[in-house]
Amino acid sequence: MPQSDDHTTVLIADDSELVRKTVSRIMSRLGYHPVTASGGIEAVSLLQSSSFDALLLDISMPEKGGIDVLRFVMENGYALPVIMISGSGDIGQVVQCLKMGAYDYLTKPVDAHRLQIVLKNAFSESALRRKVRLLSAAVDQSPVAVVITDNRGYIEYANPSFTAFRNALTGCRLQENIFDDDAQPENLSVKFRNAIVSGKVWQGDYCNHKRNGELSWEHAIISPVASQGESGSHILAFMQDITESRKNQEALLKSNRRFRELADLLPQPVFETDGKGFITYSNRAGFSTFGYSRKDMKRGIHALQFFAPEDKSRLMHGLRMKKTAGPLGTHEFTVFRRDGAGFPALVYTAPITGRKGSGGFRGIVVDITELKESERMLRENRKKYLDLFQAIPDAIIVADAESGVLVEWNRQGQFFFGYTPEEFSRLHIGDLYPEQLREEAVAYFKKACTGQAGTLETQIVTRQGIRIDVHISSAAFTTENFRCFVGIFRDITQQKRSDRLVSENIRMKNDFISTVSHELRTPLFSILGFTGTLLREQDELDRETRMEFISIIHDESKRLSALIEDVLMISRIDSGRVSYKKSELDPSITVSDVCRSLKIRADEKNIDLRLRVCAPMEHIFADQDSLKQVAINIIGNALKFTHSGGVVQVRLSCDAQSLLFSVEDNGPGIPAEDIEKIFEKFFRVERSGEAVDGTGLGLSIVKEIVADHDGTVEVKSIPNQSTVFLVRLPLLMKP
Ligand code: ADP
Repeated sequence: MPQSDDHTTVLIADDSELVRKTVSRIMSRLGYHPVTASGGIEAVSLLQSSSFDALLLDISMPEKGGIDVLRFVMENGYALPVIMISGSGDIGQVVQCLKMGAYDYLTKPVDAHRLQIVLKNAFSESALRRKVRLLSAAVDQSPVAVVITDNRGYIEYANPSFTAFRNALTGCRLQENIFDDDAQPENLSVKFRNAIVSGKVWQGDYCNHKRNGELSWEHAIISPVASQGESGSHILAFMQDITESRKNQEALLKSNRRFRELADLLPQPVFETDGKGFITYSNRAGFSTFGYSRKDMKRGIHALQFFAPEDKSRLMHGLRMKKTAGPLGTHEFTVFRRDGAGFPALVYTAPITGRKGSGGFRGIVVDITELKESERMLRENRKKYLDLFQAIPDAIIVADAESGVLVEWNRQGQFFFGYTPEEFSRLHIGDLYPEQLREEAVAYFKKACTGQAGTLETQIVTRQGIRIDVHISSAAFTTENFRCFVGIFRDITQQKRSDRLVSENIRMKNDFISTVSHELRTPLFSILGFTGTLLREQDELDRETRMEFISIIHDESKRLSALIEDVLMISRIDSGRVSYKKSELDPSITVSDVCRSLKIRADEKNIDLRLRVCAPMEHIFADQDSLKQVAINIIGNALKFTHSGGVVQVRLSCDAQSLLFSVEDNGPGIPAEDIEKIFEKFFRVERSGEAVDGTGLGLSIVKEIVADHDGTVEVKSIPNQSTVFLVRLPLLMKP
């Protein structure tokens, strides 16, 4: 309360202007703010409209005197000190005023010094009263029960909160009022009594019954107070009903217990940390998974020690940013057991709220080793499938069953059709076929998409416009998102060609058999005919005729034998059964031998058979008998077809890579239209005039043998002028 300042307003009520002025002047000098009223009525009206810190009130005023105003002040509970101003003869009224509640009085003429003292005292007492009022209001309104007892525990004061649930009989002892020993785990009334007697502060919680019989929990502080300089003369007790918070605490404990029981059932580690990151709780799975014990936890385990060093900054960032529950970061972490073994895990955390200060985190660690393993296997399987898909040598095309648009293809598919992946992805299944076959192919695609898979032989057209014979087998399958058609395209060009070759072969074989039979029949019939005649008519035939017949039979038999030899040779070559005994040899020796053996035949026909070997002669790698056969057949033909007096020129020479063996004659030659056919089996140029024996197999044998020695044979002929056969055989490579 201010002792004197401009805001301390004092109302001066006096009918004497002189007094009002004098007192006002003194007031102003003392630093108070004076307000004056010239009578009781004005004073009352001012009191009603404004607030004042003190009232100087003249006892004798006309109309409404000081006593009436004082009564008004007291009756209306104005908390301001009233100082009466009296004349010298008003002592009886002064006493009355003091009885009514006036604080003090001043006598006229007002002495400035006394006024100052009286006002000062009045203000400090008024401040004290206000404090007491405030304190008692606070105690009265406090929800905490407040009791004051004497030092033996007898209640001297109890506030309404106390009386609300206690009997609070003044004169009773505190412990008799408030304790219900039956509800106590131990005899607290004794403890309480001891606390009162000991003169020390005691506080504690206890269970008690309310006035209405309800069980309640209370918290009490009992402390001795010193009053009027006498220490321990009284006891002050505060008691608070903590039933509600106790219930909440119990509920919290219960839910905590429940949380822990549940957490213990979980196979995943569940943990809590304090604000600094130290583990404060772990469920059973947490201890068993990470290999720590409760003792270790008590000693201090920091959450960061479970993580790899490179993960720690990411983890800290995640925790700092984290305001809500959920997975920590988008990636998994590698977390480590006590023995150093790590495993991949997802860490879900939630900040712990409601704790004082930094609350820490609680969370759950989900081991994703198995998940990662199955992901890895899935990836591996997918790669295997893709590798397989790509490695399949047939072209595979996958199309959307709905739209027919191509969605996937393997490497061979891309290569086979010749499109780039971008081009492929814009194609419809029908675009793979030539226009004339498109309708049939699309109908096949639609049928296959309904599951009626079959096969189709058709043609596709590549990006370059090439048509290829294909065999398509197909299947339809459904994935999560779409249904598709899988077509496997197999190029059957080769197969078709081989089919054609097989039928051609069969036809040729049949031709061969009928030709051989025909060729065999002619000499055989001749032999049969002549031998039959000889047998039937041997007595009638003269010796000369018989000899002629026998000679014919001999010649035909030779022809038959040569024919059979050639046929056997051809069939051995064709069936691949001929076994060449290849070795290094000098071809000039072989060819010279052949020429020497044919010299008699040349001489018989008066043909000049010449051999010219050009040096240097290289060696070849060949089967000697086969080379001899080639030379006999070609030189033999030249001698056979060249007329008497002709020349057969045999030449052997070498170029960089080949042996050149040529036979030139100046016989009738080969007509241009037949030159292509002379290497075919049984082909013989039809000639009028003298019949020349032969089988038509000699040159085809030559061709096969030369081919089997990686060589070539060619012929050039000018009818009635010259015929040249040229055989090229590779030379033996010198190391
Ligand atoms: P052939 O047993 O008839 O000689 P070849 O296969 O050896 O059978 O020859 C086929 C045909 O080629 C012969 O019938 C012949 O008409 C023709 N020919 C081969 N060599 C000569 C040649 N030097 N001069 C003319 N015609 C030849």
